[in-house]
Amino acid sequence: SGNREVKVRIAPSPTGDPHVGTAYIALFNYVFAKKNGGKFVLRIEDTDQTRAKSSSEAQILSSLKWLGLSWDEGPDVGGDFGPYHQSKRLDIYKEHYEQLIASGKAYRCFCTADRLQALREEQKAAGKQTKYDGKCRDMSQEEAAKLVADGVPSVVRLKMPLDGTTKFNDELRGAVEINNEQLDDQVLIKSDGFPTYHFANVVDDHLMHISHVIRAEEWISSTPKHVLLYEAFGWDEPTWIHMPLLRNTDKSKISKRKNPVSLDYYHRAGILPEAMVNFLALMGWSYGDDQEIFSLDQMIEVFDFRKVSLGGPIFDQVKLNWVNQHY
Ligand code: GLU
Repeated sequence: SGNREVKVRIAPSPTGDPHVGTAYIALFNYVFAKKNGGKFVLRIEDTDQTRAKSSSEAQILSSLKWLGLSWDEGPDVGGDFGPYHQSKRLDIYKEHYEQLIASGKAYRCFCTADRLQALREEQKAAGKQTKYDGKCRDMSQEEAAKLVADGVPSVVRLKMPLDGTTKFNDELRGAVEINNEQLDDQVLIKSDGFPTYHFANVVDDHLMHISHVIRAEEWISSTPKHVLLYEAFGWDEPTWIHMPLLRNTDKSKISKRKNPVSLDYYHRAGILPEAMVNFLALMGWSYGDDQEIFSLDQMIEVFDFRKVSLGGPIFDQVKLNWVNQHY
């Protein structure tokens, strides 16, 4: 990643109301981009056809606008930048998985849901890790092509290494390493022809020249899979930065049950966007000695990831109201 131009993204899935966590991640991406004269991109990850909702997407856009976190490129929509949509990039994913199949890095798997279910149960009963057994790994490409032509449904899987470890470096956390035996031959393309999150996310981050992936801690366990995909393509990885998860005041992971989490709720409750930005910035990051009220521009001026603390930022509405009263 060295001296590449800084380009970051948020990649929300439009499956529910945008959350304070979405704004938190957006803010740190935005500030990092502006601090480095880089670009901030919005990509809608709408490849889960059963869960994508257009109302969620509309709310993502309006929430980012409300907070003043505008994105810097995207398809032209009436003279404005629209977000990128993964659902409009299916041809690109197809071209890329075909490339991996041709190079022997990925393969078609024709195992039925019933077979996979029986396999899982068998492995569980034997006290083993549940994992795909690689039945279709060594099928010839000709045989697979014939089954596809005959209309037999299939998924595409990546050939994961069977032993060794996969490592990556997180800018905030240092080296992370996992044992490859824990990894399944991950599905890249589902039987409906849509890509999985892992595949579309990596292909897009590469093609969109994303230099730094700044996302929530919950994605750390996905990163080794992404690293192996970068390797399979022979692409350079981005720099990885996993931000701490927001927590309720009782330290549990932030959730609707303990706190209203929809941005629209706070908007309607009269929280000012500048106050929300200021409050989100304070969580897990410090401006300077003890200055708590500052603007987005001031934050950009002094921003440095080394000041991010990993100690579980608390989403405290009392504090939010306090900040709001200063605006
Ligand atoms: N679509 C994922 C999400 O819903 C993106 C995660 C990532 O930033 O890689 O948050």
